[in-house]
Amino acid sequence: MEYDVIVVGAGGAGLSAALTLGRCRRRVLLADGGAPRNAPSPAVHGFLTRDGLRPARLLALGHEQLAPYPTVDIRELKITKLHRLGRGFRAEGTTGQGHAWAGTAHRVLLATGVEDVLPALPGFRELWGTGVLHCPYCHGYEVRDQPLAIYGRGKAAVGLALLLTNWSKDLVVVTDGPGHLTAYGRQRLRQHGIGLRQEKVARLVGGPGGLLRCVEFEDGSYLERAALFLHAPQEQRSSLAADLGATITSKGAVWVDKNAQTSIAGLYAAGDTTPGQQQALIAAAEGSKAAICLNEALTKEQCA
Ligand SMILES: Cc1cc2nc3c(=O)[nH]c(=O)nc-3n(C[C@H](O)[C@H](O)[C@H](O)COP(=O)(O)OP(=O)(O)OC[C@H]3O[C@@H](n4cnc5c(N)ncnc54)[C@H](O)[C@@H]3O)c2cc1C
Repeated sequence: MEYDVIVVGAGGAGLSAALTLGRCRRRVLLADGGAPRNAPSPAVHGFLTRDGLRPARLLALGHEQLAPYPTVDIRELKITKLHRLGRGFRAEGTTGQGHAWAGTAHRVLLATGVEDVLPALPGFRELWGTGVLHCPYCHGYEVRDQPLAIYGRGKAAVGLALLLTNWSKDLVVVTDGPGHLTAYGRQRLRQHGIGLRQEKVARLVGGPGGLLRCVEFEDGSYLERAALFLHAPQEQRSSLAADLGATITSKGAVWVDKNAQTSIAGLYAAGDTTPGQQQALIAAAEGSKAAICLNEALTKEQCA
């Protein structure tokens, strides 16, 4: 095998895994297939020692710190297919220059992340990461005490609105049509002074710096807000795990055991692609943990 481990994806999880594996003197290929999930955001928040850094700068630091490790090979490469090869894998992909590439490894770590599927309404994509936000832990502090909207329906929208009460007291749930709220859900919103608008949304109107100015409804009325939060549905950035027949959870995440291994022997996964909280620091920690588990599995095999 050419590599001990092919790490697919060079966001926080992949870079961190490559660092730990490089320090274990493992031969690693880190396949960097493009932008990370938070690329549209101006800053990464809540990452100890890196709070407020631009996402691209965080990754550039990761690359810089991998440079001294001679066994780590970083390539602009999108992996398109994985095949079982004995107890290892053969990977195929396309390089940044558009050339076909293939390589082999004893193990593969998927750190390919997820993609947020935004409502197909004008303004959502344009304001994503600045005026349209997904996570109070990442961005709540920056819009504290400002008028905020929560976009969504049913229990999920009520839950997100209640979560935001510690950041702002001026909250309105925007359901974009019938909100499917239970009597109890409505009561909880009322109890906390949270407004409710069930008209259909026409578009979001942005202000300076990509911030939100207002939500415009189909009936011509509008609601002035500084930002809108939503929990958008997610899709895996790559189908590599599913293509190999790995177990996918009911929420669409790649299932892993306590050692970060998927249901396919030798195929590991870390970061947003797996179940659980999704944060840059957590993804980096999961990448490091997966790398330790990988190194220990490889050592066990070598020393058997
Ligand atoms: C708008 C926005 C703002 C956010 N802000 C914050 C914040 O302030 N603080 C915070 O902690 N978290 C924040 N997050 C969450 C954070 O971005 C994620 O938790 C984190 O990026 C997950 O890291 P990851 O390595 O698992 O995935 P990613 O960072 O998404 O990296 C996955 C990488 O894999 C690559 N890839 C995918 N498929 C392939 C393939 N087939 N071959 C090769 N490469 C591939 C992708 O191109 C990508 O570079 C934010 C998210 C969003 C959407």
